Amino acid sequence: MLQKCDQCGMVFDARKHYALRCSAECRKAADRARKQTPEYKAYERAYSQTPERKAYERAYSQTPERKAYDRARSQTPERKAYDRSRMARIRATRRLVRLAAAADVLSSAIGAK
Ligand SMILES: [Zn+2]
Repeated sequence: MLQKCDQCGMVFDARKHYALRCSAECRKAADRARKQTPEYKAYERAYSQTPERKAYERAYSQTPERKAYDRARSQTPERKAYDRSRMARIRATRRLVRLAAAADVLSSAIGAK
């Protein structure tokens, strides 16, 4: 059955009558586009907050597969660099907070408020 791909517009031979796209690439592109819509993002945000989803995430994070994946991922140079820069940012923020607090103490001590 001939059908027009709703992603690239090419006519293709649909093996299933409900096929909308000509190829895996077009299916992926359409899926990516769908995930960029405000509606989808709002849905994702709302869904990620449900107790079901949170329970699933917790259970999933405990599987041996996921733990092995996390371990392997944490060892990549990219991840190590990311962790380092994140820690540097956290330390810098802490320093700023301390400085701001000290400035606060100083300015109230000299009655500058
Ligand atoms: Zn296509």
